[in-house]
Amino acid sequence: MTIMSSPTPIWFITGASSGLGRALAEAVLTRGWRVAMTARRPETLTDITAEHGDRALALALDVTDSRSVARAVHDAETHFGAIDVLVNNAGYGYLSAIEEGDDAEIRAQFETNVFGLIAVTKRVLPGMRRRRQGHIFNVSSLGGLVAFAATGYYHATKFAVEALSESLSHEVKPLGIDMTILEPGAFRTDWAGRSMVESSTIIEDYAETSGKRRQATRSISGNQPGDPTRAATAIISAFEADAPPLRLLLGAPALKIARERLDALRANFDAWAETTLSADFPT
Ligand code: NAP
Repeated sequence: MTIMSSPTPIWFITGASSGLGRALAEAVLTRGWRVAMTARRPETLTDITAEHGDRALALALDVTDSRSVARAVHDAETHFGAIDVLVNNAGYGYLSAIEEGDDAEIRAQFETNVFGLIAVTKRVLPGMRRRRQGHIFNVSSLGGLVAFAATGYYHATKFAVEALSESLSHEVKPLGIDMTILEPGAFRTDWAGRSMVESSTIIEDYAETSGKRRQATRSISGNQPGDPTRAATAIISAFEADAPPLRLLLGAPALKIARERLDALRANFDAWAETTLSADFPT
């Protein structure tokens, strides 16, 4: 944990209306810390603010609206004096084979999952840099490391989050700011339910690939193995660690599939190593 200015660190969480964001806000408050919970519909947070008074601030924030981003960060910094921990959690999935994707829906997916995350981060960084302390958690996904059929555009956004976060970690570490990329597997939230967007175009040729995975993704909703409350505890332990990890996988399926991904990458690179090395000028 970076040495914070206060024993009750101040968190700023996007997408706190449900799922992982809400569970994390509750875990932060349970520890006696403070949190600016942000949501497109801040009224979804009134039960939490009623219980925790001044330590819990509910703010309206749509990450795709730059004025709303500026206002929410300003209001949180004014209320609490600083933001110690930023959690870029807001995001949603899009079920569509690549060819089936609707251009506006594809762009909207990037607007929230990538450009929204960038907008919030750029607003919060000046304060963290000034104080030479902070911790940023970007919610990526196991799907930021591995890509499956039917969620290609979602994966593209999360792979982008991985790259942005890794670069950012190099830039801000010397300024006293930690960076952790969160990579959940399947968690029991609204992600595969009410939050999911699906392309209206369905191409029969993809029934066995994308089509099957669309159905599987929908059908797991409500029965995912991942528990948002336990994920929140895991995230807080990464925050409190002396040396926080750059990446934190969440849940057993994430660990298993990420390890398989590593093995497959190595096997691919090793099998083609001779050809790879043949591409340089002879020494
Ligand atoms: P969730 O319950 O659907 O929560 C998503 C949150 O993001 C909601 O609060 C939603 O707000 C918010 N959001 C969506 N678009 C937004 C926007 N433009 N501006 C501000 N907030 C916005 O799902 P979740 O699983 O907790 O998702 C949290 C993060 O975890 C996402 O980034 C997701 O991709 C990632 N993730 C989830 C899983 C999983 O299996 N659950 C796995 C890997 C990664 P509204 O209530 O207004 O819709």
